[in-house]
Amino acid sequence: MMKCGKTHCACASDPDKRHGPYYELTYKANGKTVNVKLAPEAAPLYKAASLQYRKLKTLLNRLEKLSQTILRHQAKLAQSHRR
Ligand SMILES: [Zn+2]
Repeated sequence: MMKCGKTHCACASDPDKRHGPYYELTYKANGKTVNVKLAPEAAPLYKAASLQYRKLKTLLNRLEKLSQTILRHQAKLAQSHRR
C-alpha cells in the first residue's frame, strides 16, 4: 500500500486510504538495489519463490557452520596422528 504524494489526497493522512496494493520485488545485484514492479497475478509466484530461497539460504548457513565444525575436528585429529 502506498501514498501517492499529493498533500490533499486522503492517503496522506489516513493509512486505510492508501493506494494499492502494489507488488514490488526488491533485490540486490552487483551491490545495487533493484526494484521490479510485479503484476498482481505474478506476486504469489514471486512470494513463494522468495520463501524457498530464504529456506535454502538458511540451510546453506547451517551446512556451512557444520562443515566448519567438522573441519576443525578433522584438523585436530590429523594433528594428533602426527605426534
Ligand atoms: Zn493518494
